[in-house]
Parts: sequence; C-alpha cells; structure tokens
Amino acid sequence: MTDLEVRLIEASDLLKASPRWTLFIHQKADGDAVGSASALFEAGSLLGRRVRWMGPDASIPESCRFLPHTDAFLSCEELAFDDPEELYVFLDSSNEERGVRGLRTRSPDTVVLNLDHHEDNSRYGTLNCVDPSCSSTTELLYRLFKAGGWTLTPAIAESLYTGIVTDTGAFMFSNTTPRTHRMAADLLERGVEPARVGTRIYQQRSRNALALWARAFSRIEIRGEEGAFAMAWLAHGDFAEAGAQGADTEGLVGQLLTIRGVRFAVLLSEIEPGRIKASFRSEEGMVPAAVVARSLGGGGHPKAAGATLQGPLEEVLKRVRAALEERYAEWAAAR
Ligand code: 5GP
Ligand code: MN
Repeated sequence: MTDLEVRLIEASDLLKASPRWTLFIHQKADGDAVGSASALFEAGSLLGRRVRWMGPDASIPESCRFLPHTDAFLSCEELAFDDPEELYVFLDSSNEERGVRGLRTRSPDTVVLNLDHHEDNSRYGTLNCVDPSCSSTTELLYRLFKAGGWTLTPAIAESLYTGIVTDTGAFMFSNTTPRTHRMAADLLERGVEPARVGTRIYQQRSRNALALWARAFSRIEIRGEEGAFAMAWLAHGDFAEAGAQGADTEGLVGQLLTIRGVRFAVLLSEIEPGRIKASFRSEEGMVPAAVVARSLGGGGHPKAAGATLQGPLEEVLKRVRAALEERYAEWAAAR
C-alpha cells in the first residue's frame, strides 16, 4: 500500500468513528468544493452522523445548488475550533487563509482532517490526505470511499461527478487521467446523468453575464512575442452597468485561452472600488500561472491561479503587465 492509501483508510476510519462532523469549504467555492462537501454530507447523514457544513462565502453558487444539502450550508467567517468531540474536515482548501478563520488558534486536542489535491497545500491538518495527482478533491474522496468500503448512492455519485467535471474543465484539462475517466465511468454506472450535470453547471448563464463578458471581450489585449498573452479587465462600474454580479466572471478567463496562439490568460475584475481580483490561466510549456500569481501575493495551481490586488485599476493593470513580462523573462531564461 502507498502512504496515501494508508492515510485514506485512516481518514475513512476517523470519519466512521466520529459522531459529529463539520465540513469546511474555501472562499469562492467551486463545483469541486461544493461537490466534495455535498457528497460527504450525504454519506455522513446516511451513517447517522450529525453533519454541519460551512464556508466564508455568503452562499453556495447558484449553478451548484442542485446538489444535495446545499440548503444546509452555513456562512461563517470565524469559528472557535475547541470541541475535541467534533471532527473538523477541510475540503479542497490548500491553506487556512481562504477558509473559515480560527484554525490557527485551535485547541491542541481538536482533530482536523485535511482532504485536498492542491500541490501547495500547507498540511495544516491532524491527518493530511493530499494528492496532487487527483484531478479534484472529489476524485480523492472517491478513493477514500472505495478504500473504506463506503456505499456510493446516486446522490453521492452525482456530487463526486460534479467535482471532477468542474475541476477538469469537462475532462479537457491536463489533470484528466485514465483514473479520472474510470472513476467517471463508475459514477455513470451508479446513476449519474452527465447531461443533467452539464446543463446545471454550464448552461445557466444569465443574459447579463454575457453582456459583462462582451465588455471584457471588447478590451482584450494580446501581448508578448508571438502573442502568447491575452489580458482583459472589468471595472467596478461594468458590473452594475451590465446588471451582472461578481460570480458572472466564472469561466471568462478560460475563454481567453481559446484564442489561437494564446497560452497565458489574465482577467482583472474590480470587485470593489480599488480591490481587484486577478485570475491567471496558463498552458503546458508556458510560465506557470501560479508563478505569476505568487509574485503578486496570490497563489494557486500551476495552470490556474489568482491574486487579490489593491489600487486604482489603471495602476494594477500596469503592475500585472510588468509582472507578466518579468516572470516570463525569468522563466524563459531558466529553461
Ligand atoms: P480563480 O481564478 O478561478 O478565482 O482561481 C483559480 C485558483 O487560484 C483557485 O483555485 C485558487 O487556488 C487560486 N486563487 C485564486 N484567488 C486567489 C487569491 O486571492 N489568493 C490565493 N492564494 N490563491 C488564489
Ligand atoms: Mn479542487
């Protein structure tokens, strides 16, 4: 058995032995975070566990609300981690900063289970099951369920499937492996309807969201030799003028990568006046998105990363352009 397999069995035993679970997901929750929590919530409820579910967001994204138990989600900024009888389970969360606060000052006798697939996970748990070879946290959870002999009901299968679909960009990103497809096949055999999930996740955009995208598309700037960098931005006023919300940028940065020749994409969204959310996406054989994001105080995966920047939009645009040029030059020189 590999070290991870041993840990997954330990995690499965820990879950079974704990009567009360609190599940945590990260800020700006995605289909993988929601899918993992939803699957584990369902599995715990079936075992008769008292399950709670929280995260720092105000609510679960609309596109994920078809999954079970999303109405049980509790918005929570900070919690006292002081109950030794409670199992605190962190899902898809690479560090303490992007989640519910309070973990840093937890009582030493509390038990924290960390289930994640981010390479940069800081291993903050009592038990850490972190595997970057998993496409998604739901792929890791699927392996945990299999290792521990858990029953995968259709509802659990649909939640797990949603996590893989969203984190692999519908099986298009390079994190998609034969194991990912085998798991998806097994979940389909357990009753998942791919068209139902696909429609719920990808075909519920509002017309106003597309109006917002149109604004970003009208400002695409292509940079660098061979035009490998695409950048677009949205000012705070664009959201109100288009009648759109912050969540409506979901999927937009990925569209910039569909431009022929573009191998690195940036979207800057002014979510509040002077507060700018940067999203980076990169392709194989290009300066990693995480390298650029980290140099601007953010982080993330090699190919999908982000940062939050302060300052007037014009100034942040300049800072990001400079960071792109510098990180690209360093990366190219080191090759
Ligand atoms: P997105 O561009 O979809 O918002 O984020 C892509 C990935 O970048 C996320 O999964 C997360 O790992 C990382 N990320 C996004 N925003 C931030 C941020 O402000 N700080 C850090 N450290 N990572 C971020
Ligand atoms: Mn994930």
